[in-house]
Amino acid sequence: MTDLSDLYEEIILDHNKNPRFFNKVPENANRQAEGDNPLCGDHYSIQLRVDDGIVQSAGFEGAGCAISKASASLMLERIVGKTETEAINLFHSIHEMLTNNEQVTSEPADLGKLEVLGGVRKYPMRVKCATLAWHVLSAALNDTENQVSTE
Ligand code: ZN
Repeated sequence: MTDLSDLYEEIILDHNKNPRFFNKVPENANRQAEGDNPLCGDHYSIQLRVDDGIVQSAGFEGAGCAISKASASLMLERIVGKTETEAINLFHSIHEMLTNNEQVTSEPADLGKLEVLGGVRKYPMRVKCATLAWHVLSAALNDTENQVSTE
């Protein structure tokens, strides 16, 4: 069995160095939101093209630490091609994994590679870095508030 912390570092470093969907904003985007994590200085905007309830394409722009960037990259890699409902369910599962100190009770979505984001639970300061992109995604899909902050 692979040690999750080794895997965590490997995947985070890879996605920080070669972020997927970075600066590749869809020209025909119809959903967007941006968000800040003032504690760390992370700032990202995410744009999506959603048709028939499916995330057809996506991109993100901005700057921040390795964890925040890798989280955004992993997130978009996972949700493009999925339905809005699946994307929102993943957001809830990630949020629960990262903020719930007790044993997770509900059956979590199959997080797959996203499970490595759980590695930040050991570093409470970094949890907001890892969840920032997900909050921005949620805001973009809900189309209610288009500016979010982790504070
Ligand atoms: Zn950060």
